[in-house]
Amino acid sequence: MTAVYLFLGGLLVVAIALGAKTFLNLHRRRKLLVAPPDPAWEKILKKRFPTFFDLPEDIRHRLTGIMQVFIHEKRFEACGGLREVTEEMRVLIAVQACLLLVGIEKHGFFPRLRSILIYPDAYRDRRRRTFDIQTENNDVRLGESWNSGSVVLAWRSVVDGAKGEDDGINVVFHEFAHQLDQLDHAADGAPPLSNRGDYQAWARIFHREYEALVEAAQNPASDPLFDTYGAENPAEFFAVATESFFEMPREVKEEHPELYEQLSIYYGIDPTVWKG
Ligand SMILES: [Zn+2]
Repeated sequence: MTAVYLFLGGLLVVAIALGAKTFLNLHRRRKLLVAPPDPAWEKILKKRFPTFFDLPEDIRHRLTGIMQVFIHEKRFEACGGLREVTEEMRVLIAVQACLLLVGIEKHGFFPRLRSILIYPDAYRDRRRRTFDIQTENNDVRLGESWNSGSVVLAWRSVVDGAKGEDDGINVVFHEFAHQLDQLDHAADGAPPLSNRGDYQAWARIFHREYEALVEAAQNPASDPLFDTYGAENPAEFFAVATESFFEMPREVKEEHPELYEQLSIYYGIDPTVWKG
C-alpha cells in the first residue's frame, strides 16, 4: 500500500511541476508579447528587411512581440564554419519566420521547432539526404525544414531573400511554411485548418493549382508565376506558393485569385495592403 501512495505522490509532484512550468512559460510569453523590442532591432531591420517599415503599425507591433518569444524560445546554432550567431541573424530570421504567424490565431510559435541551424552559405551534406533540396544542384542546399524539430538555413540566402525583391524567392518563408505544413505530422501541403469546409475548398483549389504547375513545369514554353520547384510535390507547392504570397501578392491575386484567397484566409492577412 505504501508503494501505491508513494507512486501517487510522485505523480502529483510531477503534475504540479509540469503545471508550474506551463504557467511560467505562458506568463513569460505574455510579457514578451507586449515588451518593447530592443532599439538595436530598428537599425538591423532598416538595413536588412525594409519591408518591415511598410507593414501597418498594428502588424508591426504584433510581429515584434511574436519575434521576442521566438528568439527567446528557439535555439540558434552556428554551423559549417560560421563563427557565431549574431543578433542580426536572430532578428532577420525571426522577422521573416514570424511574419507567417502574425495573422494566424492559434499558431503556437512553431511548436514543433526547437533549433535553427545557420550555415554561412549554401552548404554541403555528405549524407546526400534528399528531403527538401531547394536548388537545382544535387548536393548544394539553401535551406531545409526537418520534421524532427529543426530548420537549416544558409545565411547568405536568408539575406538575399529579405531584400524584398519581387522574385518569389525567400528561403525563410519557404522553410517555415514547411514547419506549418508539418504541424499535423503530415508534409502534404495542407497545414491544420479550422474546419472541414476549409479543407474541402483548400484541397480543391490547391490540387488544381498544383496540377497546373506540374503541367507548366513540363512545358519549356510556359512561364508560370510560381517557381517550378513547387511542382516537386504538394508540400513544396505550398511552400513555394507561400513565398510568392508574401513576396509578390498582387501578381498572385491577379493570376491565381482563388489560391490567393485561400492563403489569405489561412495566414489571416492580405499582403497587398503593404506590398503593391
Ligand atoms: Zn521545400
